[in-house]
Amino acid sequence: MDHFSYVDGAMQVEQVPMEAIAQAVGTPVYVYSTATLERHVGVFRDGLAQLDDPLIAFAVKANPNAAVLATLAKLGLGADVVSGGELLRAVAAGIPASRIVFSGVGKTAEEMRLALDHGIYQFNLESEPEAEMLSQVAASLGKRAPVAFRINPDVDAGTHAKISTGKSENKFGIPYDRALDSYAAARDLPGLDVQGVAVHIGSQLTDLAPLEAAFVKVGALIDALRAAGHDIRTADLGGGLGVPYDPAQPLPPSPADYGAMVCRVTQDWPVRLMFEPGRVIVGNAGVLLSRVIRVKQGAQAPFVIVDAAMNDLMRPSLYDAWHDIRAVKPSGARATANVVGPVCETGDTFAMHRDMDVVQADDLVAFMTAGAYGATMAGTYNSRPLTPEVLVSGDKWAVVRDRPPLRALIDGDIIPDWLAD
Ligand SMILES: *Cc1c(COP(=O)(O)O)cnc(C)c1O
Repeated sequence: MDHFSYVDGAMQVEQVPMEAIAQAVGTPVYVYSTATLERHVGVFRDGLAQLDDPLIAFAVKANPNAAVLATLAKLGLGADVVSGGELLRAVAAGIPASRIVFSGVGKTAEEMRLALDHGIYQFNLESEPEAEMLSQVAASLGKRAPVAFRINPDVDAGTHAKISTGKSENKFGIPYDRALDSYAAARDLPGLDVQGVAVHIGSQLTDLAPLEAAFVKVGALIDALRAAGHDIRTADLGGGLGVPYDPAQPLPPSPADYGAMVCRVTQDWPVRLMFEPGRVIVGNAGVLLSRVIRVKQGAQAPFVIVDAAMNDLMRPSLYDAWHDIRAVKPSGARATANVVGPVCETGDTFAMHRDMDVVQADDLVAFMTAGAYGATMAGTYNSRPLTPEVLVSGDKWAVVRDRPPLRALIDGDIIPDWLAD
């Protein structure tokens, strides 16, 4: 559920008309709803209410905007970060280091040092060479790094190939069959304190079965590790829960269903559970607001050309993702159309043969469920400035990331001496 609704025939977010934001900030612009963020955190937490003190670490990569992170920090969430930049963002937003987890296959020595300096809660290691490097870095600082290994359970998450991470051929984690060896090797490293097991099998999961299969494997590994004398105290179950994008599709499992499954599978585990939800917290809390530039006749259906493009919202071109596209002031008429951006790529297509509200030049449209993996993936392809972001709370709203001037894009390049005159 979200807080984007129609009032007197026009879409508003909480109590703010979309039209007012478009007028003031221009388009395209991402618009986030605080009430929706709060609701999703509440629902996720309620799903895990039976657990003793779980750590819910928001996957910062889904939406790293400082105002979004500050909102989630106020609600008590931790952060799952995948780079030094995300770590600094989380800390700056007020998320305590004691709630920060560092994931990712390519942590550098410099990033490890930064995270050790801040004293984060856990490093999720993805290989033995990474364990050796972290041990060295930590030992050189006179510290022991709290670590888990991310295991690759070889489970098919049943989602898009580009966001599946738990198959043996994927780059993530250590092979399940080698896990006991990897833990044994890590135990001998002086700079590590081996405390946990981690797993994350993919994103936009619409079925609990692969998650459960992965968690069962984690449970078996915890038993085997403890039997081998490892003091395993944490289990990080990752993120991945899907959100509804297409109202015509069956609803993905709810956080309550997910929580019930987690509680059933993990009831005897002698560990603190950790979670890394991203999309399920922010996905439905944001939309990309865009204006129709013009409508052009097509061979089969008209092309609605909007001022947002693949550089603003990459998911459709990257993952064939489906976003609901709604008129901000629907006339009531519907027709089949193709929705495209201005970028010179056929991949700059948001929807083909879509049954949708009839729109014309200057009308506003909203790409729904764009709060996760939206603004954060934006780029400047075709020399288009980065998309601004707005956060709404009740009847208040604020620009939380400005649209950079076009000039800044151009002035960032440097002409070498030999071309200067
Ligand atoms: C991306 C990612 C997440 C978040 O995934 P969602 O599908 O957005 O919940 C969690 N953990 C890790 C390690 C990730 O890479």
